[in-house]
Amino acid sequence: MSHKLLINPIYTSFGIKEKHLLQECIHCGFCLPTCPTYIENGKEMDSPRGRLYLMEAAMNGEIDISERFFEHIDLCLVCRACETACPSGVQFGKLMEITRDVTHSVRYKSSVSKLISNFILSVIIPSHGWLSTIFKLGWLYQKTGLHWVTKNTFMKNILPAKIRNINESIPPIPFKRFAKNNVQTFHAIGEKKGRVALFTGCVMDHLFPDVHAATIRILNWNGYEVVIPSDQTCCGALHVHSGDGKTSKQLRDINLSVFSDRSFDIIILNAAGCGAHLKQYKQENNKDNPTYPFSKKVKDLTEFLATVPLRNPEFPLYLKVVYDEPCHLIHGQGISVEPKQIIKSIPGTTFLSLIESDACCGSAGSYSITETEMSLKVLERKMNHIASTGADCVVTANPGCQIQLQWGMNRKNLSMEVLHIAELLDRAYQKSNGYPLP
Ligand code: SF4
Ligand code: SF4
Repeated sequence: MSHKLLINPIYTSFGIKEKHLLQECIHCGFCLPTCPTYIENGKEMDSPRGRLYLMEAAMNGEIDISERFFEHIDLCLVCRACETACPSGVQFGKLMEITRDVTHSVRYKSSVSKLISNFILSVIIPSHGWLSTIFKLGWLYQKTGLHWVTKNTFMKNILPAKIRNINESIPPIPFKRFAKNNVQTFHAIGEKKGRVALFTGCVMDHLFPDVHAATIRILNWNGYEVVIPSDQTCCGALHVHSGDGKTSKQLRDINLSVFSDRSFDIIILNAAGCGAHLKQYKQENNKDNPTYPFSKKVKDLTEFLATVPLRNPEFPLYLKVVYDEPCHLIHGQGISVEPKQIIKSIPGTTFLSLIESDACCGSAGSYSITETEMSLKVLERKMNHIASTGADCVVTANPGCQIQLQWGMNRKNLSMEVLHIAELLDRAYQKSNGYPLP
């Protein structure tokens, strides 16, 4: 199905600002070797420069918005490695978000797939009620052994390849989410140095309650009171990557109202994807807009810890560690030194370098579900590099990367642990006298 020039949504929706952003590309090609999809298939149209050509051609009304157009646009991980490599400052992530947003209305082959996608994005993801029900069913699926059966017996061969892959990637599901339905406050240990809010997110809150608990213990131990506002919602990053800018903005408005009402100085994130998105709120506005101070308050946990006098872990861990940099931390927020400093500050830990540590692992939000084949190719490359280090443990700072890397470990039968950086630091603190027990 193609959509003719007159209804080409990029042609009609790209304004002066978007055209200017596109024209910043000088077609030098420096970004190509950093692009995971270009590395895998070598096609210009699956490189950042090729995708920018496509956007420009669509903007000028020279091509139709067809299935072929979406093939190349959808295959982009929005990892933003190309932004880091670009000498011209092209805001590729922003352009991709706009492109997906303005083509959202024509991207689905059938109204059924559009309905399902809209239902997941606008009803399920922002609702902790829906998510709780779904994750409880997932918990039951694992507890009853059904998940084991569909993964390890002849049953797995009955499943279509895509479903089989998704089924294999499901991590252990906890029974309960972390946040509660009322505001929670966790008090500082010792002298109180400040008060921060924790952004708990949507899926992370349900799948990684232990990471939130570790984050809070670390902050309390370093003198910070942590408050979790109960009425916060999903950050909207998944929506914007899927082209649903409308729902993303609705979620943004809820979060702005929840966090602005309570005069927090700092809002801590331990999910790189959510942090990069919350910091982007300001790009849509000028300094007079209320989103500006909000996004300035948003700090990744590692970024925040680098600015305060951090208590040193006292007891050694004796672990060989590699750090895999989440795209939305290094490319999306420019944070790379801080997590490494934290790891190196732990006594007994050997920090090993990892080839292409700044390259995507193939997780990219819902990408591992929607573009499973490419996601697995990207993961395979990452796991080969990780396996060659001989580390005991891979540390990252984003829940999607944790799931993807654990899936990679399982696929390769590797026994390395995959930890969030908060879990590693929490473990290093745990033998200290007075540190709260998990
Ligand atoms: S965002 Fe990542 S996958 Fe997309 S074009 Fe840039 S480097 Fe390639
Ligand atoms: S590096 Fe930047 S300017 Fe050069 S081709 Fe890539 S996006 Fe364009």
